[in-house]
Amino acid sequence: MNQDLALLQKHGLRFSEKLGQNFLIDPAVCPRMAALCGATKTCGVLEVGPGAGVLTRELAHVAGKVVAIELDTRLRPVLREALAAHKNTEVLFGDVLQIDLAALLQTHFAGMPVHVCANLPYYITSPVLMRLLESRLPFVNITVMVQKEAAARLCAPMGTRACGAVTAAVAYYAAAQPLFQVSRDAFLPSPNVDSTVIQLTLRPAPPVAPPSEASFFRLIRAAFGQRRKTLPNALAAGLSAEKSQVVAALNCAGIPLAARAETLTLEDFARIAACWPGPL
Ligand code: SAM
Repeated sequence: MNQDLALLQKHGLRFSEKLGQNFLIDPAVCPRMAALCGATKTCGVLEVGPGAGVLTRELAHVAGKVVAIELDTRLRPVLREALAAHKNTEVLFGDVLQIDLAALLQTHFAGMPVHVCANLPYYITSPVLMRLLESRLPFVNITVMVQKEAAARLCAPMGTRACGAVTAAVAYYAAAQPLFQVSRDAFLPSPNVDSTVIQLTLRPAPPVAPPSEASFFRLIRAAFGQRRKTLPNALAAGLSAEKSQVVAALNCAGIPLAARAETLTLEDFARIAACWPGPL
């Protein structure tokens, strides 16, 4: 049995499905993620969900400092033992969706470039990524394992069938690319999905400048909310707007009335937002 599993067993820990606890048991995956995240000894790494600390240890080898946020306090004794020899690691117990990330960076990484690297709990993949991106904190990059299907959506080029509202939101803040595939057999318990490690490289500035970000994203969510419908129908329904108003905005933005959300680029959405008469 591998040492991490032995440790979990020693502490009588049962995997929690609710918390997305599928722990990596393939020894090749974590060193590869740690190397690809690009952190060096002058960098910090923020990890989400260290579990039994397999990735944390690999990150501690490449980075100057690793801070990991774990929700499950039952893992406290496991992590204490697993990370005892890695003095440049620290575990904070809390919810990554609640914790004050700006204060965390200030307190734990002051002055260091910070990377994010994690095998994410899949039940909160999009909320975690959006929280990291919307925080506008200066992360160098975000290297995460996600469900294979989520990776395809997150990394899809805009204007293709695979994209959705989350693709647009990610593309606004970062350039996303898949790095490598991971089989379901690499985990215990084995989930019923395969995984992909992806990397988001944060942009210095968004590629478009809509009049209001909130309105821009409302427009995008409405367009993809009924993605099979043409834009006039999807937007009229999703924004409770008059169809004539939607048609006028699309004409002004030079978008064909037969277009669907998945055919549009970020620039197209920004033009529609700019042409929209009144508040969105
Ligand atoms: N890093 C370990 C590995 O690769 O084996 C564990 C990854 S497991 C897929 C996800 C981890 O995220 C679990 O340890 C789980 O307890 C933790 N987790 C779940 N929800 C969380 C949350 N809201 N905030 C922080 N950690 C969370």
